[in-house]
Amino acid sequence: MLARDMGQTAYLVGGMVRDLAIGCRNIDLDIVIEGDALDLAGVFARATGSSVKGRTKFGTCKIESRAFGTIDLATARSESYRHPGALPDVEASNLKADLARRDFTVNAMAISLDPHRYGRLLDPFGGFADISGGRLRILHPAGFRDDPTRILRGVRFAARFGFTFESGTLARLRACLREGCVGSVSGKRIYTELNLICMEDKARRALGLLGKYRIPESIDPVLGRKTVRSRHMRRLAPAIARVDLSAGEVFAEKRLCWLAGLFFGLKRRQAAHLADRLDLPGREREACLWVSAEVPRTLVKLSRLDAGSAYRVVKLLRPVAPEGIVHLFAASGRRERNLIAAYLKAWRDVSPSLNGRRVVALGIEKGPLVGRVLERLLELRLQGKLTSPEDEIAYVRRRVRLRR
Ligand code: ATP
Repeated sequence: MLARDMGQTAYLVGGMVRDLAIGCRNIDLDIVIEGDALDLAGVFARATGSSVKGRTKFGTCKIESRAFGTIDLATARSESYRHPGALPDVEASNLKADLARRDFTVNAMAISLDPHRYGRLLDPFGGFADISGGRLRILHPAGFRDDPTRILRGVRFAARFGFTFESGTLARLRACLREGCVGSVSGKRIYTELNLICMEDKARRALGLLGKYRIPESIDPVLGRKTVRSRHMRRLAPAIARVDLSAGEVFAEKRLCWLAGLFFGLKRRQAAHLADRLDLPGREREACLWVSAEVPRTLVKLSRLDAGSAYRVVKLLRPVAPEGIVHLFAASGRRERNLIAAYLKAWRDVSPSLNGRRVVALGIEKGPLVGRVLERLLELRLQGKLTSPEDEIAYVRRRVRLRR
């Protein structure tokens, strides 16, 4: 209504329209304005007491309102690419041109929010028919070349909705890969897309599709097809489920488990190279490098332990991040798995009943010795040699006497 009063037209676009047509839940409000989105956003914000954030020179912004949450607003625009992988040149335009700059037909539909045509579907490229046929069709012959991240987006949607690439689209995807166009995309953009893939519920299926189309090796030669379709990757999903279950809480970040899976089996130098190529942020880099270098080493150490060495298992696994535990679980044989399971279920929650303050009150001098005594209490508890708070007190008293 407000848009109309200002002589503008508003349309709902993007993933929400696609998901409405498919019948999935989506709450991302993405609105395109034929007119001036920034102007409209200002008036809307004043009228509703909301705020406008992140205005860009491309005429996009976000409205944050109590009633509607976050709304993405954009002036209808068209785009052109100077060279493959480059960011596009942008120009204000109409809805049809705005839909035409999108990736797949299923993502290029709109719903009118104009009071006179409210709720009408605008589908100039046949997105609805493609949804019905379970097809992903690129909008332009040069769509993948212009922006090769669309290959990764396509794989993500294919896995999420169980869609297949339409034959012409698949041929163009393959041609783009043959030409090495993914090589020209910055690590950050590839990482962003890989991360989104790893966040999907169907991450494993999406990674499998990456392998099927030989996309990993086009990102970087150290990533062979086997990295995404390996036995380890197959064992990762049950490991994620099992480790979550054993912890009884959300324990490991699934998307990081999948991302680090790409690094399993790589040599240290290869892993560092891949982390550089993907321009991984600190935490992700650390987790991925750990998986490549430390999973095999930790498993060797674990294989030398048994159920009688609970304390040594705890010492070995305590510093390991949850995602690392998932990978250890996925990579290990039955014996080591049992130790990890026992660690998750019981051993890691064991702690002495005495704390530092009480140990000092019993006569241990303040300083590093307190930590050592607590660690020894833990060890004896895990060995079953101390079973009650009284046992612990008696142990500390004995130590105090011995030191005198
Ligand atoms: P999701 O459900 O994963 O959020 P989405 O389609 O909403 O999927 P967004 O990344 O939020 O994904 O993009 C919103 C819309 O912007 C898309 O539906 C598509 O029309 C367009 N779009 C996004 N990225 C691209 C791209 N690389 N090339 C062309 N169009 C794109």
